[in-house]
Amino acid sequence: MLFDERPKKTRDELFDREKEIEEIKNNINRPLLAISGIRRIGKTSTLLVALNELKTDYVLIDCRRLKENYGRQDLYSIFSASFSSIIDKVRDILSGVRGVSIVGNSIEFKWKGRQSLSLADLFDHLNKKRLIIAIDEAQKLRGPLSTEIKDAIAHAYDYDENLTFIFTGSEIGLLYDFLGVEDKNSPLYGRYYYSVTLERFSREMSKEFLTKGFQEVGLRANNSVVDKLVDLFDGIPGWLTFGANRFLEGGKIDDIMEIAISVALDELEKLIDTKRRVSEISARRYKYALKCLGSGMNTWSKLLDCIQRSEGTTISSSVLDNILLSLEKTSIIKDYEFLDPIYREASKR
Ligand code: ADP
Repeated sequence: MLFDERPKKTRDELFDREKEIEEIKNNINRPLLAISGIRRIGKTSTLLVALNELKTDYVLIDCRRLKENYGRQDLYSIFSASFSSIIDKVRDILSGVRGVSIVGNSIEFKWKGRQSLSLADLFDHLNKKRLIIAIDEAQKLRGPLSTEIKDAIAHAYDYDENLTFIFTGSEIGLLYDFLGVEDKNSPLYGRYYYSVTLERFSREMSKEFLTKGFQEVGLRANNSVVDKLVDLFDGIPGWLTFGANRFLEGGKIDDIMEIAISVALDELEKLIDTKRRVSEISARRYKYALKCLGSGMNTWSKLLDCIQRSEGTTISSSVLDNILLSLEKTSIIKDYEFLDPIYREASKR
């Protein structure tokens, strides 16, 4: 069903993305691929459809749950849970390996003590079979363990030719910072990765997506509803799906907008929280910057002026540069414009 709110797994549930699926399939034998695009654009769905069609074994490691300063235990428990979900594919190659405990259908990688298993060793063992290791929202791996993780991936890049790593990320600048293929200090420096970027649907495609989705549930699409949903959500399939579902539940367009804004506000609040860990002032500035950008301050000097007026103090140009850089790296804005129309509305609140 096109309007199913979970990530899609088969092509008949996925609208368009033929080109991107082919790109993934054609490059699947490379050691590294990156799939980028803003939140809700369909990265996980496109990846899963491609992987399921390839009929190659894969593991999906979802890093969304990792906190900013995650530790080795957090990392290993995500790896353990992900590999438990493909236990039947890896049981034979991992059983008996030091640092791996398999009990029933669950697998656990030991993370401390003499029996611990390094990621590089894990990859070497996995290399006994063809396996795709997909790491969803990989920018979340930034942090104290990132060098160790990249060391292990660089090792696998060089020696484990049965493994392919696919990274997805919605905070695109941060994803590329994490990979660091252009950073001389990064273990992955100079390694090639094939990059797939997912763009939003055009207006026409968004309308076609909604019309088809409504048809699937036996409704003739009302043009004005379709137009309104496309006006609100632009061509972001995750939001279009969200809006269509709320409409099917009986929601009015204005209410749907409010619910979407509250979801976006929660997400922005999490971003502001990461600044709060630096300082309360830094978090407040972020809020002001978002509000000013939301109200259309689309040049450096207008934005500086607006934040200074909101805050009642002078801020240095480097502070503003840092705020802008961070908002761009997390794919909230580009060239002073929000990439997601709902985030723009939420920022005004
Ligand atoms: P991302 O990984 O980029 O955040 P997801 O793949 O999780 O995006 O998709 C977000 C939502 O949008 C899901 O409900 C998914 O089913 C839907 N979706 C995304 N792209 C498509 C598409 N091309 N066709 C149908 N539904 C889609």
